[in-house]
Amino acid sequence: MGQLRANGKDVVHEEEGNVVVINTCGFIDNAKEESVNTILEYVGRKESGLVDKVFVTGCLSERYKPELQKEIPDVDAYFGTSDLPGLLKVLEADYKHELLGERLVTTPRSYAYLKIAEGCDRPCSFCAIPLMRGGHKSKPIEDLVKEAKNLAVKGIKELILIAQDLTYYGLDLYKERMLADLLRALVKVEGIEWIRLHYAFPTGFPEEVLDVMREESKICNYIDIPLQHISDPILKSMRRGTTREKTNRLLKVFRQKVPQMAIRTTLIVGYPGETEDDFRILKEWVKKMRFDRLGCFTYSHEENTHAYSLEDNVPESVKKERANEIMEIQSQISWELNQERIGTVQTCLIDRKEGAYFIGRTEQDSPDVDNEVLIDASKHYMKIGEFANIEITDASDFDLYGRPVED
Ligand code: SF4
Repeated sequence: MGQLRANGKDVVHEEEGNVVVINTCGFIDNAKEESVNTILEYVGRKESGLVDKVFVTGCLSERYKPELQKEIPDVDAYFGTSDLPGLLKVLEADYKHELLGERLVTTPRSYAYLKIAEGCDRPCSFCAIPLMRGGHKSKPIEDLVKEAKNLAVKGIKELILIAQDLTYYGLDLYKERMLADLLRALVKVEGIEWIRLHYAFPTGFPEEVLDVMREESKICNYIDIPLQHISDPILKSMRRGTTREKTNRLLKVFRQKVPQMAIRTTLIVGYPGETEDDFRILKEWVKKMRFDRLGCFTYSHEENTHAYSLEDNVPESVKKERANEIMEIQSQISWELNQERIGTVQTCLIDRKEGAYFIGRTEQDSPDVDNEVLIDASKHYMKIGEFANIEITDASDFDLYGRPVED
């Protein structure tokens, strides 16, 4: 979008336009379905004369281009994940290398995602991402600092670091893990107040990162570490390179080194061969670990992954039941943890106004996936994109309610 804007194009995000580019996801069944439905919707609009052209890019078209061309031929052209110059060409724009780091930010003005690497070198058996995104490619620290500075100039206060695997950052480019060094460089960017870490792989996690988190106030006391499962036979079959014992040790180190840290994880249930006993072990562990944040997904059987050679033998209904059971346990944990926050004063970043509320978040909550802090807009005025001290007055399973306090 930054490239198009620099070419003089009028670009909007998720609004009406005469030329539509759909950026697709092809990761799991639900994402594929959503992508295909969106393509069909816009092809329909093209047939009705509401839009002139429809182009499709991203992971789904990287993975299934021939099939899509055959099944939905009314799309003007399909592009893969590394074909930005080709896409720009059909949009009558030139790819300009010097525009590196220039972006049109589509998130609320308070935060932006910073993608620190692309692709993944891990062999996780269930995952189709390396098929679509290729091997891990870290972006150089200086490029990321430049991008962060550009975002800070736009008023962005929080950077959310993402990659398929944050833990691996630097190994390809610098021959060593450099996440801690990157964080030390990013905290120096003026205007950026919060830096949040998502998608850290457990195996080989550089513990130095925890020291930086403790020492640097700008690094949020928060980590998203997708653990996927805890039963050893499943972890082994998933090819995660870790065990229950090692995972528990790592979580203990997290909590010892940064006691205030909110830990978020995601799990997969219904993986091929997951027995009642594997699931029981997982449930007990979720109860015991009391993760601050947790999401649970049902296994999706993806072509060309290693796990595809295994029998997808847990019925869909059982997968769903298991996911629901885990989320019920987590709702209770989350409710209890949120009750403990009532009466505390939290620094919140105010993201937006929605209906009757201003919506903010604490350092321990990431956008879209975690708690939000709701502030009654009929009683209080909040500045969007700014920090405020909020006293938490009430809490539900996944939301907090509060009112501003004077400094
Ligand atoms: S680390 Fe994440 S992206 Fe990489 S293969 Fe494993 S699940 Fe997929």
